[in-house]
Parts: sequence; C-alpha cells; structure tokens
Amino acid sequence: MSERPSILIVDDEVSNIEILSAVLEEDHDIYFATSGAEALEIARTTLPDLILLDVLMPGMDGYEVCAAIKADPLIADVPVIFTTALGDQEAEVKGLMLGAIDYITKPILPIVVKARVRNHLDMKRMRDELAEMAVTDALTGLGNRRRLEKALNQETARLSRTGGQLSVIILDIDFFKKFNDLYGHTAGDRCLMMVAAALNRAVHHASDVTIRYGGEEFACVLPEIEHLEAMEIALGIRDRVQALGIPHSGSDASPYVSVSLGVATAPCLPGSQPEAWIKAADKQLYVAKAAGRNLVEGIIFDAKETLPASPAGRTIDAGGS
Ligand code: GH3
Ligand code: MG
Ligand code: MG
Repeated sequence: MSERPSILIVDDEVSNIEILSAVLEEDHDIYFATSGAEALEIARTTLPDLILLDVLMPGMDGYEVCAAIKADPLIADVPVIFTTALGDQEAEVKGLMLGAIDYITKPILPIVVKARVRNHLDMKRMRDELAEMAVTDALTGLGNRRRLEKALNQETARLSRTGGQLSVIILDIDFFKKFNDLYGHTAGDRCLMMVAAALNRAVHHASDVTIRYGGEEFACVLPEIEHLEAMEIALGIRDRVQALGIPHSGSDASPYVSVSLGVATAPCLPGSQPEAWIKAADKQLYVAKAAGRNLVEGIIFDAKETLPASPAGRTIDAGGS
C-alpha cells in the first residue's frame, strides 16, 4: 500500500459519490464508478486498497459486483464496504456473507465513514505486510521457498498457454561450511546477504524472481527467455559473486567466495510440473560442483519430462496418450 491509500467509490448516484469523496479525498486517492461493470473494470486496472460499494444499482447490483470481486483472484483481497440507504439487517447479512468486510448506511456520518475506512485500511496494510513476510527470507530479503513455489506455479500455468520458455537457475555457495568454520557464522551471514544482493543485481526483468532456496542455496525463475540468455545471466551471477572479492582461504575453487550454478530451460506444456525445472537445474548444479565449482552448467531439457509419469512409468505426450 502506498503512502496515500486509494479508494474506489461505486454508486449510481453521482451526488452520493460527491459526498463520500468530499469526506475521504483529503487522505486518499479516489476513483469512482457509476455502474457495477465499470466498477469491476476500474478495480482490475487500479487495484484499489478499499472499495465502497452501493447495493442498489440498476443493472449489476452491489451484491453481484461483490461476488464478482471475490471470485477474481486479482482483486479478491480488496476489502469491500457496502454503502446503502437500506437499514435492514437482512441486506447487511447478505452483504457480509458475500465477503464484504463492513456496512455503512446512508445518509452517511462523515466521522463514522472516516473512522471505519481508516480501521479497514490499517487492517489491510497489516494483512499485506504479513502476506509479504510469509514469502520473504528474513536474512537476505529475497523470496523464500514459498515464493518460489508460487512463482513457478504461476509461470508454468501462464506460459503453458503459449508454449513459452521457462528457465530456472539454482546456485550454491562453494565450500561454505569451511567459510563458516574459518570466518565465523556472522561473517557467513554477511556473505549470504552480499551474494543475495549480487544475485539481485544480475537479473534484469521485473518478472524475474530471486529466491533463497535453502541455507546457502539460491534460485532464479526466468520466464520467457532463451536458454542462452539464461546462461548469460548465470555467468553474470558467477562473475558478480567473484567480483565481491570476499576472501575465502579454505576454497579449492577460488581465492574468493564463489558459486556453482545449474541452469535448466524447457518450454511449458499444459500440465507441466514445476518441480521438473528444479530437478533439472539441481542436476546441472551437481555437474558444476563435480567439474570443479565456480562454474555454470546448463541444459535445454525435453518438455515431456515436465509431465507427470504415466502409471507404466513412462512420460505421456502433450495430448495425453
Ligand atoms: P559445496 O561446495 O559442495 O557446496 O560445499 P559446502 O560446504 O558449501 O556445502 P555443505 O552443504 O556441506 O555446507 C553448507 C553450509 O552452509 C553448512 C551450514 O553451516 C551453512 N549454512 C547454511 N545456512 C546458513 C546460514 O543461514 N548462515 C550461515 N552463516 N551459514 C549457513
Ligand atoms: Mg555449498
Ligand atoms: Mg548446499
């Protein structure tokens, strides 16, 4: 949520929008819509922090709009407060059952509207922060394993519609146990933070996701790039980690802290299993370790390997055989 939270006011009567807007515009960015269809469109494009929704509207009424909001993963989390002249409890219950968070009756009392809006925005901010924390690694600020799982699920589902390529890089710090033994655990933690920062600097696109996968293992999810580009990014990561120049006298691979990287690329098919990329990249990481460390190894693997094995133990083709 930005400094100034945004509120979408939905009401078929412009005078009602003006009244609410006058109360709230000082502290909030206001969007408005005069019909249900318009409300959904604006909600999807602006992703407001809160929606004030009139119940009685011609065409799609507030209940239908609320149900549509709650059914759309993109905006389902946006809190909805119903505003209506109806004072009856039945309408209130129906709204709350549909997933609305609160109910305000018209004519509105400005002080009440302000207080309720503030409370719900505070709760939304806390929820957003908790949700973000749940997918963030506390030491490095990178995404954690949960974030990786989400990103992989989303990207494989999205890319399977077009057969788009997906690359995953897994990297692991070389001789890190020895580093801890030589320089101490605190220096080890500092090293992890620096490697994470180098990793972030090496990826370029907004859709690229960087992850702390486990202790001293990291991962990147790179959608819609060619294998060669993914290899270049992996080499960039290796070079940037070397360039940090963190001395490591216990390493056989380099005088400085180094990483080994595995890269795996395949096009996505309907039904592709995200774990296939992890498994393939992990295998390449193992090859890089065995080949001497401080190295990148990569593979373009068969998209069929991403599909679940058939009962006979063979992989099925894209159409299912
Ligand atoms: P290799 O080159 O084969 O990867 O050897 P390695 O020593 O890096 O690998 P190994 O898996 O044997 O050791 C990993 C070490 O990472 C052991 C553990 O103490 C350290 N480690 C894991 N998580 C953390 C952490 O959060 N902080 C610090 N300082 N060390 C960690
Ligand atoms: Mg290691
Ligand atoms: Mg390891």
